Amino acid sequence: MNKHKMHPESKMMSHGYNPEWSEGAIKCPIFQTSTFVFPSAEEGKAFFEIAHGVREKGQREKVGLIYSRLNNPDLEILEDRLCLWDESEACAVFESGMSAISTALMEFLSPGDLLLFSGPLYGGTDHFIKHFLTRFGVHVMEFHGRETREELIRRVEEKGLQNRLKMIFLETPANPTNFLYDIAAYRQLADHFSTPESRVLVAVDNTYLGPVFQHPIKHGADLVLYSATKYIGGHSDLIAGACLGSEELIHRIKALRSSFGNMAGPWTGWLLLRSLETLKIRMERQAANAAVLANYLVQHPKIHDVHYLGFLNEKNGSQYEIFQKQCLSPGAMISFEVGQTEEEAFAFLNKLHLIKLAVSLGSTESLIQHPASMTHSGIEAQHKLELGIKDNLIRLSVGVEHPDDLIYDIRQALEGVRLLEEAAY
Ligand SMILES: *Cc1c(COP(=O)(O)O)cnc(C)c1O
Repeated sequence: MNKHKMHPESKMMSHGYNPEWSEGAIKCPIFQTSTFVFPSAEEGKAFFEIAHGVREKGQREKVGLIYSRLNNPDLEILEDRLCLWDESEACAVFESGMSAISTALMEFLSPGDLLLFSGPLYGGTDHFIKHFLTRFGVHVMEFHGRETREELIRRVEEKGLQNRLKMIFLETPANPTNFLYDIAAYRQLADHFSTPESRVLVAVDNTYLGPVFQHPIKHGADLVLYSATKYIGGHSDLIAGACLGSEELIHRIKALRSSFGNMAGPWTGWLLLRSLETLKIRMERQAANAAVLANYLVQHPKIHDVHYLGFLNEKNGSQYEIFQKQCLSPGAMISFEVGQTEEEAFAFLNKLHLIKLAVSLGSTESLIQHPASMTHSGIEAQHKLELGIKDNLIRLSVGVEHPDDLIYDIRQALEGVRLLEEAAY
């Protein structure tokens, strides 16, 4: 047979697992075990030598299973499969997206170092950076898409921190406004500050479009982070996270994960293996539904300022260029404004039936929420406005339902909303 490279979706049912290991079971069992029996004392010793880095692994030597805080088959197979979408060398899975993000930041940042990060970030990440890392003497600096490369370089130099920059952290598309950051451009900025001894890392939170619709490593990212709670899990029934990157970087992250003990459990790992089998068809269906809904919303008289990546065009300049270069689909996240006030936005939210009023995203069911008072309520008022998070802004994560039913639900909810503007006439 000539060389044919299988697509990730074709490998999601089998990659990394051999039925012979488990009585021919086509599915990988749940290895609900804390510890593993060594075949012999000598082999137990050898496993620990590798795990503790006493010596390099021999070419044919397998990394032995020791203890489920260090390794477990469900997690290892899951990590192998997650690598396929991003074409990454290695992966580490965690018990939450926040544990993946916080562990990665703590492994690569030390007191005195500088972290640059894009705004707005996911609330939990924003809080961890501003209120936890700073307590340990890490310098942190937020930037926005409007700031030019030269302005940002000047700001770093004015603080005298050009030799201390260790990482640039991006979240793109940004939540909830779908603002795009150019990963390759920040790679260049990182290179500007890198030295032969010290490479400035670029880390990208890829939860919003990945792992199917955006592959940051191809654009120069060193680390890719996920809340696997979202699209990867996809069924609103688990919390998990992942970090991908080179063997070298992930080896360091796994060492810290072993210290923190914040790996995912085998049951979560197994559920994620199951979810991965349908990841692509779910995401494609969600994106197709989102296109239908965005087109409905944009023409509705009670709705305005629909933020949907599928609406970008030449008139949007660099945002459109970034989209074309970096994103493989507009995805399934839409935000939009209802009327002018929180009251009007709430009236709409309270009238929905099929679409569920809940935070989180990327699930089979459509989820809707009010960023200003929910996911982004921790941000101070002025900053919220600068980020475009207004009192009438709604964020919708589109699920796999029939689009006609979603439109029906939105239409009936909007019919029941009396806009304050109308009342004034
Ligand atoms: C949800 C989310 C996180 C945090 O993930 P958890 O699994 O809830 O810990 C981080 N980043 C983004 C973009 C998210 O949406």
